[in-house]
Amino acid sequence: MCEVVNQAVQQAVSRRRLLGGAGAAALATGVTAAAGSAAASPAPPASPAPGKGPGGDADARRYRSWLTLLGTSGGPVWWPGSEREGIGSAVVVDGDVYLVDFGDGSGKRFKQAALVPPEMRTPGGFWGEEMIRAMFLTHLHSDHVADYFDYFMLGWTNGLRSRPSQQPIQVFGPGRRIDEHGNVVMEPIFTKPGESTPDIRVENPNNPVPGTVDMTNSLYQAFALDINDRMRDNRYPDLREIFAINDIAIPDGIGYHPNDNHTPQGMEPFEVYRDDKVRVTATLVDHFPLVPAFAFRFDTDDGSVVFSGDTGPSRNLVTLARGADILVHEVITQQWVDVLMPPPLTPTEEALRNHLLSAHTLPEDAGRIAEQAGVGTLAFSHIVPGNAPDEHLNGARKHFSGRLVIGRDLMEFGIGKRGR
Ligand SMILES: [Zn+2]
Repeated sequence: MCEVVNQAVQQAVSRRRLLGGAGAAALATGVTAAAGSAAASPAPPASPAPGKGPGGDADARRYRSWLTLLGTSGGPVWWPGSEREGIGSAVVVDGDVYLVDFGDGSGKRFKQAALVPPEMRTPGGFWGEEMIRAMFLTHLHSDHVADYFDYFMLGWTNGLRSRPSQQPIQVFGPGRRIDEHGNVVMEPIFTKPGESTPDIRVENPNNPVPGTVDMTNSLYQAFALDINDRMRDNRYPDLREIFAINDIAIPDGIGYHPNDNHTPQGMEPFEVYRDDKVRVTATLVDHFPLVPAFAFRFDTDDGSVVFSGDTGPSRNLVTLARGADILVHEVITQQWVDVLMPPPLTPTEEALRNHLLSAHTLPEDAGRIAEQAGVGTLAFSHIVPGNAPDEHLNGARKHFSGRLVIGRDLMEFGIGKRGR
């Protein structure tokens, strides 16, 4: 999720302070106070318990392939009153597991989900991690990667050592923020209208925009003490042989440049991964300035599931999702935007609002996207705010004639034909 949200909150805080009144005290405590007041005033409603609420398929596990929403909230915010954990999803195909995004708490949901039935687990596989075949990162914002390394650090003691296939788990995510010549491109510093560009320190100037391979290598190094201990004292196998990390190469010749905030439109989806059970394709979506950002499509013999990742309304996504059974789409509510920046807007607030809404999608627009793509089910996940009431999300129905489901953690959907 775009960090401009935090700027928007700060704008709202200063605005309320100027205006005075009861809202000032609530907003002055920062992001979470603003988030809490966004869901409903005066008090946010409690979210339904994980796996509860309307929608989803209670019998999803009778299907050979199914989708589990692990965490369903978006943003680097601990949403008050919400039982939604951070974004994360799993596609299970004939007992094999494919994971998409690793938000805060999604690892906890993975354990609760117990995706692999006991009879299919190998001895010593506590949670079924041994069945993970591939992991996918849509982009490298913190709310999509917070639990990523859990699977490395703790997977050793929870089944990864006994993988029956002995094949490494394939990991795919964005590469460095580079242009087509391989030059590193820093994102521009966001400035308010009339503001001069501030001097901001660059973290890790030798590699300030690492991709998935760089990030993972740095994590290995950061935790070398534990990793070496496990390999020497416990004689665990080499983590680098359990996981194979891949940066996703952006196709040449499509006009992509990291600092062009108009993602190349009309691009054809391209293949990222294929095995005997799934084919995964990707496209670039609109999440500037955090690029590259991908949407993924999983095609199986049973049916197809598409994940939008974080994006504004995206034509590329319509192309990718064409005819899919399920589209898992991110969403941000108008009510929350209005709480952050209540009208009338100053030029600065207008700029922040537009910046925010170019990188995220309102419910009505998600409905349009789903209708244009002709998908069967539109499932909202990466919901901002995480404590949004359903009535703030139902606007998608105005434009979408299929099944709309407001995602909850651990909600499941059967894919295609039933039967194991
Ligand atoms: Zn994001």
